[in-house]
Amino acid sequence: MDYVQKDLDYIWHPCSQMKDYETFSPIVIEKGEGLALYDVDGKKYLDAVSSWWCNLFGHSNPRINEALIQQVQNLEHVIFANFSHKPVIELCHRLHTYLPEGLDKFFFTDNGSAAVEAALKMSFHYHAQIGDSQRKKFMALTDAYHGETIGALSVGDLDLYTEVYKPLMIDVIRVQGPDCYRCPYRLDRASCQGECFEKVEESLAQIGEEVAAFIVEPLVQAAAGMKIYPPIYLKKLRQACDKYGIHLIADEIAVGFGRTGKMFACEHAGISPDMICLSKGLTGGYMPMAIVVTTNKIYEAFYADYKEGKAFMHSHTYSGNPLGASCALAVLDIFEKENILEELPERNAIFNKKVKATFQDYPYVGEIRQIGFINAVELVEDKATKKSFDSSLRVGYEIYKIAVSKGLILRPLGNVLYFNPPLTLTESEMDEMLAIAKESVENYFNR
Ligand SMILES: *Cc1c(COP(=O)(O)O)cnc(C)c1O
Repeated sequence: MDYVQKDLDYIWHPCSQMKDYETFSPIVIEKGEGLALYDVDGKKYLDAVSSWWCNLFGHSNPRINEALIQQVQNLEHVIFANFSHKPVIELCHRLHTYLPEGLDKFFFTDNGSAAVEAALKMSFHYHAQIGDSQRKKFMALTDAYHGETIGALSVGDLDLYTEVYKPLMIDVIRVQGPDCYRCPYRLDRASCQGECFEKVEESLAQIGEEVAAFIVEPLVQAAAGMKIYPPIYLKKLRQACDKYGIHLIADEIAVGFGRTGKMFACEHAGISPDMICLSKGLTGGYMPMAIVVTTNKIYEAFYADYKEGKAFMHSHTYSGNPLGASCALAVLDIFEKENILEELPERNAIFNKKVKATFQDYPYVGEIRQIGFINAVELVEDKATKKSFDSSLRVGYEIYKIAVSKGLILRPLGNVLYFNPPLTLTESEMDEMLAIAKESVENYFNR
């Protein structure tokens, strides 16, 4: 079969202008192993982006494979209303010990956007339930990304995804968020005390009483171009939410599970949100599963005799799927048995050093920012003024095509090249990835 032609005949790919596929056809992958993916012709690609940030410990990981095989032979799925199963119970029990203090109740969905929707509904409903029904609004930062369904899209702010749907969206109070590379206060990362948080304070002073929840991507606005901001900002946000009685929803879908060098990004700030949204790394990149973990306080506002009508009636068919839960358990096993979290800081630092050595001297590299294994290289037209390349040039996309032809999956966000590799990345893999990345960038600029 001509797989490429058949793909083009039938498939509408996500996040793509399909016409681009006329000149850059879909790559049909047959096999994955560790950092590498192999296409049907046997060509190898290094997956520097963890297949959209979800693969944690390499493709076709033997431990996760084994867990999945064991589970599928016992139970593939069961209705999750009134029924339960061992893997999901054990998962909550074990994951609980890793989570920030006070997050005690687990609500399952089957993808990240759905978890965000559930969290928003839960917060709104909570306030209605306790008679605080003037709190109907959500607050979120500029450049936020929280998923693609209408509610999740509404709290997000990237025009690329949201522009045409604005008439459908719920009312969200947008606050100017941190922009550390182009800091309007002209501070650098070392001396910053989260001064720009005053924008949030100003907004809250005006309408804090009407806000149900503030949703935020802790420390890294990932889809915005791996924009990294300091923990102090998050600390201030927690304090402000407490002051105004607002729920803090931490969307750790992208940054949870070791991506920032700690299990959860909130740990860097020493804060606990009222809800945390988890997905992507949760199952190691194996199965679609997501969780909203929340407090007993929120849970209890829904707990009443049936006739009071207080239940949270939200549901998804594949909630708490046993295959997903068993993969998630294998992920925790790997974290524990392979001392991943203990070894991350040192390995993260090694990678960052290599990324800097590779890219920092180019005139078109504006900033290299890093947290955990996430390393972003922002390309600019003018380093002094930090002027961006015009988006019509599609600089990132052009580099992406070159890199793919050389066997590296980079997939830049606009003009930001980034690496978000699996946590098992070895030093030789770092070198291999960076050599291709360097060549690709040079090829582009020396055309
Ligand atoms: C990916 C992502 C989502 C959406 O998750 P999906 O599973 O793609 O729906 C939400 N928030 C953040 C921060 C993400 O990175």
